[in-house]
Amino acid sequence: MVILLFGPPGCGKGTQGAIISRQLGIPSISTGEILRAEMRAGTPLGIAAKQIMESGGLVGDDIVNAMIRNRLAEPDCRKGCLLDGYPRTLAQAEFLDGLLQELGYPPPLVLFLDVPDSVLVARLTARRQCPVCGAIYNLLSQPPRRDGVCDHDGATLIQRDDDKEETIRARLEAYARSTGPVIDYYAGRNFHRLDGNRRPEEIQVDVDRILKEAGVGGAA
Ligand code: AMP
Repeated sequence: MVILLFGPPGCGKGTQGAIISRQLGIPSISTGEILRAEMRAGTPLGIAAKQIMESGGLVGDDIVNAMIRNRLAEPDCRKGCLLDGYPRTLAQAEFLDGLLQELGYPPPLVLFLDVPDSVLVARLTARRQCPVCGAIYNLLSQPPRRDGVCDHDGATLIQRDDDKEETIRARLEAYARSTGPVIDYYAGRNFHRLDGNRRPEEIQVDVDRILKEAGVGGAA
């Protein structure tokens, strides 16, 4: 079973994705992560993608489609996988349909973690980082022991530029613009909208039920 996990930045996709992947014993594949690894390794693909990623744009469909084709051919995907951050455009969604058919997978199960923009802005603007060791905190969900100060080295925490409200709103708008049509593409096709404005454990109960109904899981 291939699971597509959708949701805007800050919706809790990472947390749910890790749980599902562990529970079903399938790899969680993030195209953003693969691209960042290519960048770190300094491969031609990484070098080509760097500028696009830094400007917040989307890497070309042909590149990410080829990455997914290669990744799905790996043996650990035999039982399926969870895709995070892919497909991001209609062309990618159509390519994926063809690829899954070609590889003999059933149509994907689609999960969409829906969270209002106001909540996402509050969550994301609450992020703080230690400029010395890089530790990440969240004033709402994971505050430092002492206000404004890193637990590890006592440095004064900072707010990164990309966690400022204006940047976050721009990212949310870009997400709605590019991924909105992809979500519409899947509506009515094994598509499940989840209220993501809840505690992770509560969301997980719904996810478990959906997976159980789909015949692929249900470990509580
Ligand atoms: P993410 O970690 O999913 O937010 O992805 C980080 C960046 O990688 C994005 O802003 C895009 O530049 C690029 N990227 C990741 N996945 C895709 C995709 N499916 N299509 C195009 N670009 C992508």
